[in-house]
Amino acid sequence: MAGELLAGYIAQARLLADEVLFPAAMAVDRSDSVPVSHFDRLAEAGLYALAGPAEAGGLGADPSAVGPVLEALAGGCLATAFVFAQHHPLVRMLNCEAGPELRDRWLEPACRGEVRGGLALAGVLPGPPKLRAEPTADGWRLDGTSPWVTGWGRVDLLRVAARTADGRIASLVVDAVDQPGLTVTRQRLVAVDASATVNLQFERVIVPADRFASIGPHDEAGYGITNLRAQGSLALGVAGRCCTLLGSSPFDDELAACRQALDEAEGDAVPVARAGASELALRAAAALVVAVGSRSILLEEHAQRLAREALFTLVFASREGIRRSLLARLTPRP
Ligand SMILES: Cc1cc2nc3c(=O)[nH]c(=O)nc-3n(C[C@H](O)[C@H](O)[C@H](O)COP(=O)(O)OP(=O)(O)OC[C@H]3O[C@@H](n4cnc5c(N)ncnc54)[C@H](O)[C@@H]3O)c2cc1C
Repeated sequence: MAGELLAGYIAQARLLADEVLFPAAMAVDRSDSVPVSHFDRLAEAGLYALAGPAEAGGLGADPSAVGPVLEALAGGCLATAFVFAQHHPLVRMLNCEAGPELRDRWLEPACRGEVRGGLALAGVLPGPPKLRAEPTADGWRLDGTSPWVTGWGRVDLLRVAARTADGRIASLVVDAVDQPGLTVTRQRLVAVDASATVNLQFERVIVPADRFASIGPHDEAGYGITNLRAQGSLALGVAGRCCTLLGSSPFDDELAACRQALDEAEGDAVPVARAGASELALRAAAALVVAVGSRSILLEEHAQRLAREALFTLVFASREGIRRSLLARLTPRP
């Protein structure tokens, strides 16, 4: 049953990618923000429910369910897929970690895509805490920075992960709006700029007690590992669009092999498979640029957009294992 549901969602995502997202991708690439109508179309197709419970049309906590849908959407418009990708960890938190109050208030609207999620996870970054949470008499206080927060103006709620004084991670739900103590600074990007990614500076930002979701250990190595598979799908989507534009080529088999490696990877193999997907996107986009020729360097050409997007897949949501594996692949052996 879940398999049928997923197949339906993948088919919907492919259709939207080809008929709505890809035709608009060059215009979105040059715009300030992905149009809201793109996200409305994804919501109408039921895709915001993916990480939700079965009764809300979702596929449960299985993170692999999100991957193929993200891949299809990223092949249409990476900026749209990237903003959309931020939503699912919020749904997973509401579904699996949050208490009944938060769950009852937000889970169903989030699964319907009426409420859209983003992430500010700086508290989990290794080293001294970038974002700190301190309990107060009637809630929590946030101080510090979350250097990259995607979807500003297009998401409603942020899943925030902040470090407590005793080194644990507090998960909170914060409105993604201007508010006292919050400074929002736009990050300008060479690819997926329309993702409206910002830097958030928190100075005594007050979060009411009813926005607290959970508190747990700070697992530096493990945090977010479940999302790495899905994030690899964004690179596969870029590579897949390059394959389509190139026509039949040996890249097709490589794409299938990379997808299989990501699907089957466990533990330390996940970052390695993730690196493989980004390296493939880079080579496929470079091949497309060369195949198209001088024209590919024109601003209105998909080839140069895809090449910039392939660069983005090398660094976004990186982890030490991904960085190491990519550097090993890209650096000549002595
Ligand atoms: C365009 C763009 C948009 C982004 N949007 C968001 C967003 O919306 N919300 C958000 O929270 N982050 C976002 N990020 C941050 C992203 O998830 C990674 O944290 C970041 O790309 C890692 O950057 P880095 O390699 O420079 O590592 P640094 O930030 O310098 O961190 C050092 C090391 O920390 C580890 N690390 C990084 N992130 C994590 C993590 N989440 N969990 C565990 N370890 C980690 C890695 O090993 C990394 O090498 C975004 C990044 C980019 C480039």
